[in-house]
Amino acid sequence: QPATTAAINGKGKAKTSGTIDYAMEFDWAPQLKGTMKKVFGISSFRLCQQGGCNANMDGRDVVCVMPTGGGKSLTYQLPALLTPGCTLVISPLISLITDQILHLREAGVEAAMLTGGTSKALANEIQQRLTAMASARGGGQQGDIKLCYVTPEKIAKSKGFMSLLRKLVEGGKLARIVIDEAHCVSQLGHDFRPDYKKLSALRQFFPHVPILALSATCPPRVLQDILKILHMKPVVDGKAAPREGTVYFSAPLYRKNLHYSVVPKPSSAKEVVSAMSQYILQNHEHDSGIVYCLTKKDAETVATSLQDVSNGRIRTGVYHADVADGQKEGLHRQWRDGSIQVVCATIAFGLGIDKGNVRFVLHHTMSKSLDGYYQESGRAGRDGQDADCLLYYRPQDATRQSSITCTDTDGTAKLHDMLRFAQDMQECRKILFAKYFSASSDLSMTSWTTEESSAMDKCGHCDNCTRAPETIEHKDVTIEAWQILKILEAVDAQGGRQTIAGLSDLARGLGGGSFEASGKRKKSKEKVQLDYDAVAGGKVGLSKDDIETLTVQLLVSRYLGEAFSSTAYTVNVYVIPGELALRLTRLTRAEVVHGNGPRIHCSFKRQTRKGKASAAGAGTKRKTAARDGGDGGDVSVATVAGS
Ligand code: ADP
Ligand code: MG
Repeated sequence: QPATTAAINGKGKAKTSGTIDYAMEFDWAPQLKGTMKKVFGISSFRLCQQGGCNANMDGRDVVCVMPTGGGKSLTYQLPALLTPGCTLVISPLISLITDQILHLREAGVEAAMLTGGTSKALANEIQQRLTAMASARGGGQQGDIKLCYVTPEKIAKSKGFMSLLRKLVEGGKLARIVIDEAHCVSQLGHDFRPDYKKLSALRQFFPHVPILALSATCPPRVLQDILKILHMKPVVDGKAAPREGTVYFSAPLYRKNLHYSVVPKPSSAKEVVSAMSQYILQNHEHDSGIVYCLTKKDAETVATSLQDVSNGRIRTGVYHADVADGQKEGLHRQWRDGSIQVVCATIAFGLGIDKGNVRFVLHHTMSKSLDGYYQESGRAGRDGQDADCLLYYRPQDATRQSSITCTDTDGTAKLHDMLRFAQDMQECRKILFAKYFSASSDLSMTSWTTEESSAMDKCGHCDNCTRAPETIEHKDVTIEAWQILKILEAVDAQGGRQTIAGLSDLARGLGGGSFEASGKRKKSKEKVQLDYDAVAGGKVGLSKDDIETLTVQLLVSRYLGEAFSSTAYTVNVYVIPGELALRLTRLTRAEVVHGNGPRIHCSFKRQTRKGKASAAGAGTKRKTAARDGGDGGDVSVATVAGS
């Protein structure tokens, strides 16, 4: 594809009084559209593709945030074909790059990749071609590499490659630097990669080469961090961009074909898998899907048991970091051609999934942040057709996640946002996402606006929008909260510690109502009998599940806190009185009963008819089949407790 230099030199039509509206059509519109149709077979732009292409063609620094599957690649691939020189693309994963190269070659575009895995001979050849481009005179030549993909360690670690880039820049042949999955540069994002941080060198070495940063999830603080690390100027709005600054585009983050539900997760591992199997067979018997699991081991166990429990009707595959590369490729292939129906995976499975017809994404355990959850669940329905996103949630999983995320920057705060989302049984999921992603910024509030609705309109089809009122109970549980905090204070005073699950048992008087009082340093573990009447005016009269739900509620509202203690194998997570605890515990029971002090409200899931869901799917024509799994463990424990 010969470079169309004339168009690039053309001035944008839509320029008025110093600002530019990149969403308009520019002089080069015919070339853009022609090439888009001819090379990629695409006849109209989506989301902010037109604006992104225009700003790129105009040589601006650009940040473009579009949902997964939105079509971010086109925003640089199209301008790359219409601009002389080579566009450098930095992308985190080899599988992702391979995929892009394959698509580009099919479209007849000269593209190359240089990664750690590239053979020496091939690397030499590519480097020679780039060197030749650097020293060639004039515009484009036949055979020029229009797009060169590299992994970030090429920039971070290869001096040779950096000097090759310098030659390209000096010859005026480095058209642009694209940073795909740009949130990976920020430790505040959900997928930080150390090599990405080193990309800050690019602007320092090549101050005049425009940068395009692409991402699907980029909350305001991550955006600011990206700009800082990459040395990009503050963002300006792509609809009224002055000549200076980074042009920012953000597509609607809300995808109305995704139907979100949080469903109760049974307490036994076996039941979780049966619930999933039942859900899949009833709603998506012949559809492709993903089950996201917390650990590699979980992914393997779930894959095996899902296949077993469905008598082989659900064919599963496993994907995580330790699966061999060859196997991963095989899995991708089998998943694409349908011989594997469900991929059970850790979050390692994600970037670069190029499959449009994923009809469901189930989360076996909640993600460690809402950014992560949005991104992972967003792999469903990229073709625009209806898809379901189910989060299997039980409060005890907070402990599992917490033990992993407690060492991350802001790990606890992010997990708490995730927990608030999971525990919320009233607010529309779209609004919850919108509030989270737009916190403290008016830039991305617009991201949740669609042509038909504004950001704060309910979606009308998530679990909370479609919930039958009798499936939840909202209660004032200030007394129970006060009791829990009092009990925990008593345990704390004796040097004891409680997990979420342990606290729930103790609060109900299980195990004889005693707890281990030994502090860390004491050798012998001493059992202490809890005097419920004296400490808390009696046992807590809620079920195990309800107490756990309340405990998480108290945790995210800071009445409870967490303490971590690491052993050689794991990190144990305990609940302790939180910074706000005194607001309640300084009151007497009578005062609380009387209505003094703060009030604590909590929503609890209720089972309506036997085995019927208060759950899943939503939408009128959609079956709601995921089981309300809160039963099993709860029922049996309640029988044992008999309190
Ligand atoms: P992202 O990087 O934003 O996740 P991709 O760039 O990989 O998304 O594009 C996802 C899919 O959408 C690709 O198969 C691509 O060909 C397709 N696509 C991109 N833009 C359009 C468009 N304007 N119309 C139709 N399909 C498109
Ligand atoms: Mg992409």
